[in-house]
Amino acid sequence: MSHQLALITGASSGIGATYAKQLAARGNDLILVARDAARLSALAQSLREAHGVEVSVLAADLTRHEDLARIDSELRNNTRITTLINNAGMTVEGEFIDASIDQTQTMLTLNVVALTQLSHTAAQVFRSRNAGTIVNVASVLALVNEQANGAYNATKAFVLSLTRNMQRELAGHNVRVQALLPGLTRTEIFQRTGRSVNDLPAEMVMEVDDLVAAALRGLDDGEAITIPSVEDMGLWHSFEQARGAILPFISLNKPAMRYR
Ligand code: NAP
Repeated sequence: MSHQLALITGASSGIGATYAKQLAARGNDLILVARDAARLSALAQSLREAHGVEVSVLAADLTRHEDLARIDSELRNNTRITTLINNAGMTVEGEFIDASIDQTQTMLTLNVVALTQLSHTAAQVFRSRNAGTIVNVASVLALVNEQANGAYNATKAFVLSLTRNMQRELAGHNVRVQALLPGLTRTEIFQRTGRSVNDLPAEMVMEVDDLVAAALRGLDDGEAITIPSVEDMGLWHSFEQARGAILPFISLNKPAMRYR
């Protein structure tokens, strides 16, 4: 039997490493991508031993053009790959105006440029095979203008919009495309910017095992959008309906009466 093979970016910690563990437990072979080669190799070895799956490691800094090109080429040319978990991402310290613009640009390169490149390639190759799965990790901050770093929130709004449009373009091609919108989740993303997850309200922080289990359950159920803590997805559908209500009026040949 040919195994599913998932390429996971940002697989050395947090959500990506947890996808690796849970997909390996389901019998998937894996390709793990992140910068920390030693950490990826240790995870790969433990997953081979625990689950008898094939796991390979590709160390790459996805903000470096040549590294991204190498991972992109693997995605394009390794015909065994059935799933892309487009997860690698970062945030920066502080709010937009006071944050380092260099770090902000690195974040844009990782969260937007690298994710877009890999989404594009996966969409092309999976469409040509009429099979495949793409999971793009956005954030609930895609929906939030009230707090956090505005540029980070905007990268996640980009991921959400791109993924929704990919779903439209790939309809009828047997390619599953899921946007995952985690809320606060216990990973290393906070300590990487000098914060502690323990300083956040405990009732708002999900354990990473629960988050990924819910994400995979949502994928199994064919969800296009997965927001793991939202009990009533009718709220999301109302949000989409409200967005749809303005669409007939957003491009007309005359300005609105208030401008005349
Ligand atoms: P994390 O524990 O910090 O994991 C981030 C992963 O990305 C690590 O494996 C890291 O590995 C990798 N990475 C960072 N920079 C990279 C680069 N330049 N090139 C390649 N890999 C890189 O954080 P996480 O929370 O699991 O984040 C995963 C995704 O979830 C991100 O897209 C994040 O925005 C999103 N998210 C997180 C939360 C949350 O509350 N945790 C909420 C919503 C969305 P190396 O350091 O080894 O490269």
